[in-house]
Amino acid sequence: MKIITDERCAGYSRPGHPERPERILATLELLRRQTELPIEWAEPGRVSDAQILRAHAPELLARLQIPRDFDADTPFYENIAGFARASVAAALDALAAARAGDNVFSLMRPPGHHATRDQAMGFCYLNNIAIATLEAAATGAERVAVFDFDVHHGNGTEAILLNRPGVAFFSIHLHPFYPGTGGANAGKNCFNYPVAPYDPRETYRATLAQSLGDLKKFRPDLVAVSAGFDAYVCDPLVQGVLEVEDSFWLGQSLRAFGVPMFSLLEGGYSRDLPELIFAYLKGVEGK
Ligand SMILES: [Zn+2]
Repeated sequence: MKIITDERCAGYSRPGHPERPERILATLELLRRQTELPIEWAEPGRVSDAQILRAHAPELLARLQIPRDFDADTPFYENIAGFARASVAAALDALAAARAGDNVFSLMRPPGHHATRDQAMGFCYLNNIAIATLEAAATGAERVAVFDFDVHHGNGTEAILLNRPGVAFFSIHLHPFYPGTGGANAGKNCFNYPVAPYDPRETYRATLAQSLGDLKKFRPDLVAVSAGFDAYVCDPLVQGVLEVEDSFWLGQSLRAFGVPMFSLLEGGYSRDLPELIFAYLKGVEGK
């Protein structure tokens, strides 16, 4: 298992904000201490403006330099542009590693799936998964599936990838819930699987299985995963229902497609996030 990470991504925070440095630091601590899964560590390289601008408006890059909060969830931080670019760079390196045959996970913050073409929102500044998906499509991938199992709808990813040929987006999420989108399919290529709040775990699992079945029918040559762990039963942000073993099952199910795949951390705010990620990685690795 290759993990792309950089401890410096813990270098920004605001008191009380759930998207906090400990998410990464505690996960690093567990992954370094465990002995079940051999890990190859790598630091992210760099990303060009041209790669970012496939997904975003130049105005968003300029806006990231202006020291003013984006919204109540999405503060301005000193050098947030640098942090966001490092997270994108890790996504692009994860894509390259997947193409080279590695099992790979990008353990970085900030997350990305709520960032739209011209707007930072929902703890997200640049859309890591959309940028990596468009990079893949621009460099030879013919059928890229994006699978988003974060409990929130990946509205930014959907908006950026809507009707792009050769790309399909599959999102499973609670609805209605933040950000309010994702109640129905969109365009020709965005498939949404809303689950109602307080639906039982069996329903959530069945919905995940259905979406994975539909993804398989798309016959992707590459799978990009927005791995959010906030559908977990103990997550503080939502009424989630999934257990640790469901993370393992997700990793295992995605592995079973047998095509190159990379995963990027999106949400997940509980104290058990390290265990959820570890379970997922074991599933991906087939352990
Ligand atoms: Zn989320």
